[in-house]
Amino acid sequence: MNPKLSRRTFVGAAVTAGAAATTRGQAEDQQPATARSSSREPFDVAIVGAGVFGAWTAWHLQSRGKRVALIDAYGPGSSRASSGGETRVIRMGYGSQEIYTRMSWDSLAQWKKLQQATGERLFTETGMLFMARERDALTMDSLATLEKLGIPHEKLERADLVARYRQIDFGPITWALSEPRSGALFARRAVQVVVREFQKAGGELILGRGEGPATDAAVKSLKVGDRSVQAASFVFACGPWLGKLFPDVLGDRIFPTRQEVFYFGVPPGDDRFGPPKMPTWIDFGAEIYGLPDLETKGFKVAIDKHGPRFDPDSGERLVTAESTAIVKSFVAERFPGLKDAPIVGSEVCQYENSSNGDFLVDQHPRHSNVWLVGGGSGHGFKHGPALGAYVADRLTKGGPTDPKFSLATKDKFQARVVH
Ligand SMILES: Cc1cc2nc3c(=O)[nH]c(=O)nc-3n(C[C@H](O)[C@H](O)[C@H](O)COP(=O)(O)OP(=O)(O)OC[C@H]3O[C@@H](n4cnc5c(N)ncnc54)[C@H](O)[C@@H]3O)c2cc1C
Repeated sequence: MNPKLSRRTFVGAAVTAGAAATTRGQAEDQQPATARSSSREPFDVAIVGAGVFGAWTAWHLQSRGKRVALIDAYGPGSSRASSGGETRVIRMGYGSQEIYTRMSWDSLAQWKKLQQATGERLFTETGMLFMARERDALTMDSLATLEKLGIPHEKLERADLVARYRQIDFGPITWALSEPRSGALFARRAVQVVVREFQKAGGELILGRGEGPATDAAVKSLKVGDRSVQAASFVFACGPWLGKLFPDVLGDRIFPTRQEVFYFGVPPGDDRFGPPKMPTWIDFGAEIYGLPDLETKGFKVAIDKHGPRFDPDSGERLVTAESTAIVKSFVAERFPGLKDAPIVGSEVCQYENSSNGDFLVDQHPRHSNVWLVGGGSGHGFKHGPALGAYVADRLTKGGPTDPKFSLATKDKFQARVVH
């Protein structure tokens, strides 16, 4: 990430410290810890978690004239958060899960609008290629959904693929679905920009670890370090931490898994692995996906298969020899020009899976003014704008939550349905 941009964005996202000490130490631009309350208190809504879900929820509520506090233990888009990676894919194909196709299309428009309003680079239209084998049901269903909704796409046969992408050895791939309008979001930067815009609109960002409700009594405030934050409603958008905060309700319903991401250095002077020549791509059959070389970070390749359970606070973020070998071998076969390319960067992140991959947006079973928001399940980032608007609607307009997003549909075992 451009260090100038990073600095500017972070300074823009000024915080008030709510905890006596933060685990990453006091950065020089943070306020000393105090227990002061804000002149805007009591807030209409206090949101715990400034990942993509919490940030967009805060942004939407603030733009609707609500007084909103956004609380994060490590700061927006930190390296521990699921939203903290360099980039995330935004694609429309979701098989027959039309709700996610619609949300993604809606979100893409909102990401672009924010990009235009702020002048920050949040999205790049690389195109998206779903590499498919024979009668691949998921991709065929995606094709049908895109046709139905009128979302731009193209079906490419093997001969088209070979002619168009000479740098790819398609091996077992027999056809592909191409989405020319899809691409990549600059994730960490994007979250920080959303939070900065939220603050510009009058929202308050508080640095500190929020505590879940301690008893079954009505919730009127939230402890953040030595500060008590008063609000009418509370949203816990804590991604992989949700099970830790609500062990009785979500401890065995959110499954944080360790996921590894690799960046390969492209050969000198070689533009075949960056846009416009290389799209973002996924091979669901191999459970591997990747993004082109963006902003010279490297050619990104990641394993979509769920890894072992992971603790987002204490887990070490170093890739394993096993995953390195899998990814290197895949790259050597599928992208022969990168056969000897070195790994120039890596990230270890965690998916925050629900049992089947559907999101969670529901009230706490014992506290009607406490909302649980999460279950991004390795595909949530792109949906931040639409999901945030959906949560804001529930809080400001009421109305039923879609059963797909309800707590009742979240099981205690993992059986992935949404890809
Ligand atoms: C490797 C990887 C690749 C992915 N690829 C894609 C992709 O290509 N496309 C896509 O759409 N999605 C993708 N995802 C999924 C997507 O990134 C997540 O679904 C999404 O970022 C989840 O956002 P969130 O806001 O729910 O959680 P998070 O981003 O984890 O945010 C939760 C926040 O809550 C804070 N918090 C937790 N507990 C507390 C507390 N007690 N007090 C205060 N703060 C607290 C944390 O500090 C954190 O900032 C990927 C995820 C990973 C890990």
